[in-house]
Amino acid sequence: MELLASASRVLRTYPLGETSLIAVLLTRERGLLRAVAKGARRPQSAVRAMLEPGAALDAVLYLRPRGLHLVKELSFRGPLPRPASDLEALALRLAPLELVLLTTQEGEAPAGLFDLLEDAFAADAAAGGIGWAAFFAFEAALLRVHGLGFELAHCGLCGRSLDPSRLRFLPGEAQFACPACGGEGLDLAPASADCLNAISLVRPSALAGRPLPAPVRRQVGRVLHLALSRHLPGYRLPRSLGMLGPARDMTAKE
Ligand SMILES: [Zn+2]
Repeated sequence: MELLASASRVLRTYPLGETSLIAVLLTRERGLLRAVAKGARRPQSAVRAMLEPGAALDAVLYLRPRGLHLVKELSFRGPLPRPASDLEALALRLAPLELVLLTTQEGEAPAGLFDLLEDAFAADAAAGGIGWAAFFAFEAALLRVHGLGFELAHCGLCGRSLDPSRLRFLPGEAQFACPACGGEGLDLAPASADCLNAISLVRPSALAGRPLPAPVRRQVGRVLHLALSRHLPGYRLPRSLGMLGPARDMTAKE
């Protein structure tokens, strides 16, 4: 069996049998891996406290050619995320983990994905919560990591330069369009267009903790939800965001 030592981030765990856990890890070296942590649910297990969603670990795994890998050793690579200050902060911390899990196949490691998730957690730690602007930057960057970044400079249909103050979004195509082509589309407020421009350029940590006015949050959240739904296989609205209730439901109509 091959031995792998890699910086890792815990995406989630599942119980296995009476006393074990399956840990789903995003590893720097090999992307998403599922590994059995034997006995991790025993009360005296030292590993139990490490396998929290979002925990930054150094993992040593036995890689098996098929089936689940095995955890050999785990150690903390950094402190556990501090307890979230409220439900929204918790949801925005869990959502990036869930998005990576939904949109990444076992053994798949798109270049930049590990560093992107690290950056999201750096933003969370720096600002006492990642905040909506940085979370949206994470979603935009997730599209870029998969080669699906969105085009805001030119109309997706006719190719003309776009005026950021007169931007439309076509839900069916999930593209930005000029007023002439995007007549049926969603009319984006200038503040939403500004936000979309900002998040398409920077890493999440550059916008750490920055709040967004509710109308911008709803509109940009909806655009990103539609773009991710249309373009990124496996994507669906994270359950963690769903728990914020209909007021935060990005699928809701304006
Ligand atoms: Zn056009």
